[in-house]
Amino acid sequence: AMNATPSFQSICCVGAGYVGGPTAAVIAFQNPQIRVTVVDKDPSRIRKWMSKHPPIHEPGLRDVLRVARDGTRATTVSTDQGPDSIVSLPERLPNLFFSTDVEKCISEADLIFLSVNTPTKLSGIGAGAATDLFAVELATQTIAEAARPGAVIVEKSTVPCRTAKRIRDILDLYRPGVSFEILSNPEFLAEGTAIKDLLNPDRILIGSSQTSEGLAAAQALKNVYATWVDPAKILTVNIWSSELTKLAANAMLAQRISSINSISAVCERTGANVDEVARCIGLDSRLGSKFLKAGLGFGGSCFKKDILSLIYLSRSLGLDEVGDYWQQVITMNEFQRSRFVSRVVCDLNGTLVGKKVAILGYAFKKNTSDTRESPAIDVVKQLLADRPAEVAIFDPRCNPSDIKEELQRLFAATGLQLLKPDGPIEVYNNPYDACNNASATLILTEWDQFRYPALRRTESVFETARSERAQAKSLSPHGGLSPHGGLVRTMSELD
Ligand code: NAD
Repeated sequence: AMNATPSFQSICCVGAGYVGGPTAAVIAFQNPQIRVTVVDKDPSRIRKWMSKHPPIHEPGLRDVLRVARDGTRATTVSTDQGPDSIVSLPERLPNLFFSTDVEKCISEADLIFLSVNTPTKLSGIGAGAATDLFAVELATQTIAEAARPGAVIVEKSTVPCRTAKRIRDILDLYRPGVSFEILSNPEFLAEGTAIKDLLNPDRILIGSSQTSEGLAAAQALKNVYATWVDPAKILTVNIWSSELTKLAANAMLAQRISSINSISAVCERTGANVDEVARCIGLDSRLGSKFLKAGLGFGGSCFKKDILSLIYLSRSLGLDEVGDYWQQVITMNEFQRSRFVSRVVCDLNGTLVGKKVAILGYAFKKNTSDTRESPAIDVVKQLLADRPAEVAIFDPRCNPSDIKEELQRLFAATGLQLLKPDGPIEVYNNPYDACNNASATLILTEWDQFRYPALRRTESVFETARSERAQAKSLSPHGGLSPHGGLVRTMSELD
């Protein structure tokens, strides 16, 4: 017998973060008939989502919110094609809501996205590290207690392979005898291009159990996406494949960055130029040209965490060799950072004592204000070990007080005096003051405003640091001479 495909009327997304917020917003934007509510236990985050200033910076996000969250008035548009071309656009009622009432919103939904954080467990780093599923488990418990029987639960968070089994066990424990379908639907958006990625994804992946109920639930979720995504790009697979694909995809993206960075180290010692090598490698159609930019290595909240999770998973399956293999991707990333800082110190005559080092860019990549696992944090940490007089930081999107707060939190255990006037770190509101009198300027995020023309305008500001910079030649990590002599140019890779 054919199973009728359910059709969802009410979606609840648990977790209003970098993934949950934009994903729910785009689903609501594209499905005006579905009511979408995003819930979070953090009231300040929800307040920001309801305000004019959403808690995250993503190009296009405000436009999507303006339509789905705020609704639109009926308008009449006339083109210049004569009276027949008058088009009335209907009023659109808001269908995207934000709330802190997690249980109530879960109880009203027939489709529930789990988009909570899945960080690395603090113990055991080094041998790979387990994913901390605390937030997933707690949210699942709430779902078990509050959800309507038959609601479909979707893993949107990145989770280790076989987490769906754990979710199933929790549901059975807290709500015995009630059936819920569990799907895996990992998110492939990249921060900084989240809205673009959501509107035009390479693929949508939906994993389900292979029972008729599982397949029907997958088809119903597919229908939600098919309102704007080409159905050929929506893949339905078994649930374990779906969970593992997300970890594997991130591990392989990070691996490419470590691979080209390993080549950059060889370039530096041989006179080869890694930009040329990368361009020539990338023309091989089997390899492609993307993600081949040498730099400070990958940052962000996902790559390292997901590789650690894959390493842990491999080792727990008795596959130590597989774990060792992926461990090298992380080792290479760390080597690249320390190699870079050693070179800065070396080019400044072996010491930072008495010198000011400027850092342009603190976010982990451009077009985001997210600083989680940013390469800049590692660089600051390693610079501090050489006791510079000042580390001057500027980022176009990160709030100076947020940067200070984060650094103080991260370095709390060291007991160091961190911030001016007692310590070396100062965070500036503009790049000119940050660079003034600096012995070296390190560009750590590839923000467009740090590209040459904008920097040329700072030339006069750099004037005072010129003699020192004359010695600090060719500081880019891939051996290219920078256009400003001592100016260190480097780009961080993407998550
Ligand atoms: P985040 O920390 O920005 O957001 C998670 C939110 O969930 C937080 O606001 C938190 O308060 C909320 N939360 C946690 N437990 C809750 C509960 N029981 N009830 C209600 N709210 C709860 O995290 P994120 O960056 O959005 O990542 C979410 C997941 O998506 C992670 O698994 C991550 O690996 C994955 N992912 C992230 C990205 C990315 O670029 N950030 C990309 C793809 C996948």
